[in-house]
Amino acid sequence: MRIAMIGTGYVGLVSGACFADFGHRVTCVDKDAGKIDGLNRGVMPIWEPGLEGLVKANAERGRLAFTTDLVAGVKDAEAVFIAVGTPARRGDGHADLTFVFEAVRELAKVIKPGTVVVTKSTVPVGTGDKIEKILGDEGVQDVSVASNPEFLREGAAIADFKHPDRIVVGAEDIHSQDVLREIYRPLFLNRAPILITGRRTAELTKYAANAFLAVKISFINEIADLCEAVDADVQDVARGIGLDNRIGPKFLHAGPGYGGSCFPKDTLALLQTADEAGVDQRIVRTTVKVNDDRKAQMVERVSRALGGDVRGKRVGVLGLAFKPNTDDMRDAPSIPIVKTLVERGADVSAFDPVARHQAERIFSGIEFAEDAFAAAEGADAVVIVTEWDEFRALDLERLASVLRGKVLVDLRNVYDRRDAEEAGLAYYGVGRGREAVGG
Ligand code: NAD
Repeated sequence: MRIAMIGTGYVGLVSGACFADFGHRVTCVDKDAGKIDGLNRGVMPIWEPGLEGLVKANAERGRLAFTTDLVAGVKDAEAVFIAVGTPARRGDGHADLTFVFEAVRELAKVIKPGTVVVTKSTVPVGTGDKIEKILGDEGVQDVSVASNPEFLREGAAIADFKHPDRIVVGAEDIHSQDVLREIYRPLFLNRAPILITGRRTAELTKYAANAFLAVKISFINEIADLCEAVDADVQDVARGIGLDNRIGPKFLHAGPGYGGSCFPKDTLALLQTADEAGVDQRIVRTTVKVNDDRKAQMVERVSRALGGDVRGKRVGVLGLAFKPNTDDMRDAPSIPIVKTLVERGADVSAFDPVARHQAERIFSGIEFAEDAFAAAEGADAVVIVTEWDEFRALDLERLASVLRGKVLVDLRNVYDRRDAEEAGLAYYGVGRGREAVGG
């Protein structure tokens, strides 16, 4: 199949490269000339494991091309995927569809009859209808509009794309169903379930999935608070419930609250959709509040571990990206943590294995260290904010030896209290008995 991908960000680039790897001919379009220029020189705009090799291999085979020229990119495409950003709109939190509609209007000028337009961006229920209307108003005829939400996780994006739990296709005519089936045929052969639904249902399924995962995270975070008050260990509680197949072990890690490019904005957008429909979503509404409060509470934990005040204290922060294996800093829990520490007069020295270049645009007045030990050097406390693998097996004795204050605040529960204490560190985890810093 000949595919055009409009928007070459995390989703567009990964999807485009994977489709090309399936054997399709893909042109990725982006209006960011710097990004396209870099990709044409083999420079990846994002850090994602395995991406560079996949992109280069398929570009060399002539199956993957990059351009800023939408007309050229879309010219012969049988399917045009829209994978532009849908950030939260300032003020009300609704999904901002400016980029989507802008792309559709550009598309309308060149699209040929028989093409299938597919939204891969996360878009609110009814967006497919609006796209259809814009195309109709622009005089476009015989073009189908389908929804194919993406469920990949940054940090494991290629594996997720190639081995999805399911593919959701919202397509209401046989032609678009057939085109999408053909595009995903290699995965179908691998027995990935393909769920064909109505377009509105597919649009809503994406929001429901993200909202449910956000609920799961906030649920275990509240259980963690209870564990601290009643001297129980949330790690064991999570394991105890997660082994139940009806619950499952994933997204049950207590920590500093969810962040990233999807959950915060998608939960807000779902609430807006619900408001417009006149149907309250109390569980999701509460989840958003629980998560916002949680992020704000994290500095209190550091402060308590340091005796009640961070002013004049030096704090080493390990991990800035919103999760491991990505350089994405969008809505990362590290942002309120680091900013509040600085506002309250702490000296912050931070280290992240790959997100420094993004973080430098966000934080001012902090130092960036070259590794975990350099971040901890002379600090009163070290705080693990993102659970990168390289922070999972630090030499704790060495860490203690470079620290001034011998305090380890482990917001990801990476370490055992006993190991930390044996190394001479005062240990503060999350949801781990009365001695946890929240208790
Ligand atoms: P991103 O910001 O990384 O990439 C979007 C790209 O679209 C940018 O490069 C931008 O320059 C480009 N763009 C915007 N308008 C354009 C236009 N008119 N023509 C050409 N290019 C244009 O965003 P992302 O993280 O890839 O997310 C894209 C969508 O996928 C969002 O709706 C998001 O919610 C959804 N999604 C993201 C993830 C994720 O993990 N990042 C996972 C699933 C779904």
